[in-house]
Amino acid sequence: MRKSTRALGLLVLAALLLSGVPAFAAAHIVIVNNNAAGVGFNDPTPAAPAGGNPGTTVGQQRLIAFQYAADTWGSILDSPVTIYIQSAFSPLTCTATAATLGSAGAIQVFGNFPNAEVQNTWYHVALANKLAGFDLAPGPNGTSADDIVALFNSELGKPNCLTGIGWYYGLDDNHGAGIDLVTVLLHEFGHGLGFSGFFDKSTGAQLAGFPDIYGQYTRDTTINKQWPAMTDAQRATAVLDTNHVIWTGLNVTAAAPHVLQPGTPLVTVLAPAALGAFRVGTATFGPVLAAPGVTGNVALALDPADAAGPSTTDGCSAITTNLTGKIALLDRGTCGFAVKVKNAQNAGATAVLIADNVAGSPPAGMSGVDPTITIPSVRISLANGNALRSALGSGTVRVNLGVNLAVLAGADPGGHLLLNAPVPLVSGSSYSHWDPVAFPNLLMEPAINSDLTHSVDLTRQEMTDIGWFSDGDGVPDGVDQCLGSSRDATVIIDGCNSGVANTTFPTGCRISDQINDCAVGAGNHGGFVSCVAHLTNDLKKSGVISGSDKGAIQSCAGQARIP
Ligand SMILES: [Zn+2]
Repeated sequence: MRKSTRALGLLVLAALLLSGVPAFAAAHIVIVNNNAAGVGFNDPTPAAPAGGNPGTTVGQQRLIAFQYAADTWGSILDSPVTIYIQSAFSPLTCTATAATLGSAGAIQVFGNFPNAEVQNTWYHVALANKLAGFDLAPGPNGTSADDIVALFNSELGKPNCLTGIGWYYGLDDNHGAGIDLVTVLLHEFGHGLGFSGFFDKSTGAQLAGFPDIYGQYTRDTTINKQWPAMTDAQRATAVLDTNHVIWTGLNVTAAAPHVLQPGTPLVTVLAPAALGAFRVGTATFGPVLAAPGVTGNVALALDPADAAGPSTTDGCSAITTNLTGKIALLDRGTCGFAVKVKNAQNAGATAVLIADNVAGSPPAGMSGVDPTITIPSVRISLANGNALRSALGSGTVRVNLGVNLAVLAGADPGGHLLLNAPVPLVSGSSYSHWDPVAFPNLLMEPAINSDLTHSVDLTRQEMTDIGWFSDGDGVPDGVDQCLGSSRDATVIIDGCNSGVANTTFPTGCRISDQINDCAVGAGNHGGFVSCVAHLTNDLKKSGVISGSDKGAIQSCAGQARIP
């Protein structure tokens, strides 16, 4: 079965969120220049070579950056069939402070082709071609015979299009205040290669009634169902189930502890305990949340209804409630977050909760600058704010603002990556991205964060889960290269820190990545320990680690609850 689609992963960048390539290609990815003469990739405006991009016109530099990002993915993936990315730069939606950067998606999807791993399931055409071993959609370039369509904004940085903040075409990630084109391309190509689902997010209906390979690995933990097992109505509800939509692929889950940091910021209600714990939005000012955090009784903070703010709970004027030793509860609105928190601090508060003034989830972050703020503050949802206010009416409310070190930042308590499931639905952003709570920031979050490097991080393991690597170890057969998925400084196995430096090899792969390959490939604990023994013997023989290093790693492997 086959189907044309324009399931584009839209990437919109809000102004507030502004924020070693391997030597050979294992999959050949070709950029098809779909621009007319004189524009886009053919823009003749002179440009000075910069950041390793040798192009001398704007058009050339764009094409070189596109091919660089294509080659990066090509070096990671493995396919006997050339992947064609039909590409163009055109004017896209813009305002002075926000712009659509670009979008990309699979041009067609296929199911029930030769060697399809899961039957009656749509695959992105590039992956379908790889599994089939031949081109399922042959034909001339510039037509639907291409595999991915990529459309990028030609106006970025011009007046009224994210004014003054343009593309950085360099290849060295040294983008400064500009937007790193290569990073955005790695993200968008990721959607086209397999990081996207095709169901209708409003109705829950599957594409032509069939599930897709991305959906096979997604689950709503509230109803405990995988996406294909749901009714349309359940899918339409599940896509809004913030904190409960997870990725269940084994490779992503195995790699997550090596990529994500422990510690999810949250508010835990100690009394009345039935209220549980709340997800929070964090502030750009004041101290970052830590464990064990700040614990105290909550007090509604009141201020005069005056010109600074019409509500008595907006915290926009000097607060009259004595908040000494208390955690202040305030409402969002009228004045800036930092103004409210400073007023609460002046009234003696030890921390601040700011309840949203519109329904929705998860609570967004709080921007602002005030170096004199010394207490932590978080934003909570309107629903959670109302719950606290209601509880205050009938007794003491005691909370802790802190981090849960038992949960990875970006995962659920079971260690599965969270997918983006905001309320209300954001059609270009919901479901086909990781949850933005992930930290360190990941390539496939809905917004491009300025601290991203050119690593594809956990997108590699997502591609492994959906079938890009025939032996399931996350790297092309016979090749070991990881582009530094692991960010641990030392080799850590299931929480056991061997203390051995997590050496990075010229391929970008680190020792932890190789051990992770053992974990994924092993059928049982003995198999894992044996794989690690072979690996560490090789590493010692080649002088990468010492004999005692080998012993330390093997000891951790022996204790690990793997698989
Ligand atoms: Zn995206």
